[in-house]
Amino acid sequence: MHSTGFEAARLTVRVNALLANYHRFVRLCEPAKVAPAVKADAYGLGAARIVEALARAGCDAFFVARLEEGIALRPLLPRARIFVLDGAQKGTAPALIAHRLIPVLNSLAEIDGWRAAAREHGAPLDCAVHIDSGMNRLGLVAEEREMLSAHASERLRGLNVVLWMSHLACGDDCASPMNRQQLERFRAALAHLPPAPASLSASAGVLLGKEYHFDLVRPGIGLYGGNPCTEQPNPFDVVAVLTGRILQLRRVDRGGTVGYGATFRTTRHSILATVGLGYADGLMRAIGNRGFGAIGGKKVPIVGRVSMDLVTLDVTDVPRDLLETGADVEFIGDTISLESFAALAGTANYEILTQLGHRVPRHYEQAA
Ligand SMILES: *Cc1c(COP(=O)(O)O)cnc(C)c1O
Repeated sequence: MHSTGFEAARLTVRVNALLANYHRFVRLCEPAKVAPAVKADAYGLGAARIVEALARAGCDAFFVARLEEGIALRPLLPRARIFVLDGAQKGTAPALIAHRLIPVLNSLAEIDGWRAAAREHGAPLDCAVHIDSGMNRLGLVAEEREMLSAHASERLRGLNVVLWMSHLACGDDCASPMNRQQLERFRAALAHLPPAPASLSASAGVLLGKEYHFDLVRPGIGLYGGNPCTEQPNPFDVVAVLTGRILQLRRVDRGGTVGYGATFRTTRHSILATVGLGYADGLMRAIGNRGFGAIGGKKVPIVGRVSMDLVTLDVTDVPRDLLETGADVEFIGDTISLESFAALAGTANYEILTQLGHRVPRHYEQAA
């Protein structure tokens, strides 16, 4: 967007915190490698800047979901391995090969297609293979895995399997018996497959312990400062800070109503602040009359509905010297965690980050 010298809202991305979280994963998982999930524009934070920072910190493998995401990142990561979780769908082999992307093959049919692509290409092709261990979303089902084991050398001819992977359904719940079940199914599958590095865990799985790390982990949410396991305190630093600025302050007599639908009525003489952030920016409508902003580290309630571009707060109890037009109000950050915002919006930290609007300018802050 055209620069005007004024930004009603911004998303500050703390690059140092991102790198601190990355190094936390590296230390926790050593000797396993850390290959960040940077799909969906690095969870809304801006994949280009995120991968640039991670690559400079020594990170050399990444996961995206879509082929297009991999193609977009290739010029920024000339030497890194880029895995495409969607796999090698029909017609995508030429693009995957041209951009040196590694598909995560999700079925025997995809393996067969990729083998044919390798033959046509005239040289071996790298791939990862996803073994479903209980999620029933993507990956080879048990019968396919058995068929692959029985005829591995033919089925994988011309293919270089660089990773066997699986994915946990309940990693965010340390108490779930499903975690161990999937761990055991994955181990059993690996015992019947040709040797290659293996990967089971995303952020939450990493926190389940060493057994879950294998050779490579694929964290996303934890790198971006989200808490992978809502039952325990967040071990990661805040990366994403969403702020909006006060556009207008007003005094409203007792009994005045606020916003669309007049859903809030003041019960005292009040000071209201209207801030330039709305649901088009990712401030979910669900937090109207429920959520909070924060000024000077103190929470203030959102009053009335959230509208497309604006939200109104009751700032009557805020010290007067903090109240002026242009002042910043935090909606996600040090005072209001991503998780507390998500809980009030009835959703998960993942959805909050990935729904942040394109309109909100991203600022990358990196202290020396
Ligand atoms: C998104 C994704 C990840 C990253 O998950 P987080 O919970 O954000 O750490 C890892 N692996 C797969 C297969 C994914 O789809």
